[in-house]
Amino acid sequence: MLKVNEIFYSIQGEGTAQGKPCSFVRLTYCNLRCSYCDTEYAFYEGEEMSLREIIDKVKAYPSLLVEVTGGEPLAQKESLSLLKALCDEGFETLLETSGSLPIKDVDKRVKIIMDVKTPSSGMADKNLIENLNFLKKEDEIKFVIGNFEDYQWSKNFIEERGLSGRTVLFSPVFGKMEAKTLAELLLKDGLDVRLNLQIHKFIWQPNTRGV
Ligand code: SF4
Repeated sequence: MLKVNEIFYSIQGEGTAQGKPCSFVRLTYCNLRCSYCDTEYAFYEGEEMSLREIIDKVKAYPSLLVEVTGGEPLAQKESLSLLKALCDEGFETLLETSGSLPIKDVDKRVKIIMDVKTPSSGMADKNLIENLNFLKKEDEIKFVIGNFEDYQWSKNFIEERGLSGRTVLFSPVFGKMEAKTLAELLLKDGLDVRLNLQIHKFIWQPNTRGV
């Protein structure tokens, strides 16, 4: 059984699958408390569901793309079984994780979108650096940027950890850093990263749940 906050169907707002119809399974609980968190409702709220119930609900949607997110999905051990089961059912499966819990046992068919927490999140000391060794070439690494210090820090992190050539996403904190400001910094430095805007917040009201 897993505690599930919500299951819904929407447009994928982020990453390289951005813009595609996608089902989302949002699992309850998170071990972090980021300053900019927009899913605090997932910290405790939810209902217990079996893997079968979750999969049946996802199968009722017409897309074969599914993302397991949170909260922090890996906070519940059975999330690993859910990810495997979704792959076995033929879904293209994405995992959005904070990067603070081990990813090494995640099914290799899953595409991982892993955060590296920046200083303004208040959680940078929780980054599990060894996770970088378990990322596959098709996985994505996301930095959420709240200010110029975060930008510099992320840029240094990419250089020091040899991440150029990987799929790296720079996402401005919504309502805190202008997309234009971040775009100008990227252009000035010519960084090989993608500006990652959460397009669902432009399609619907920014704090709408279930989209
Ligand atoms: S890891 Fe995600 S869900 Fe957890 S506190 Fe940070 S932003 Fe919120």
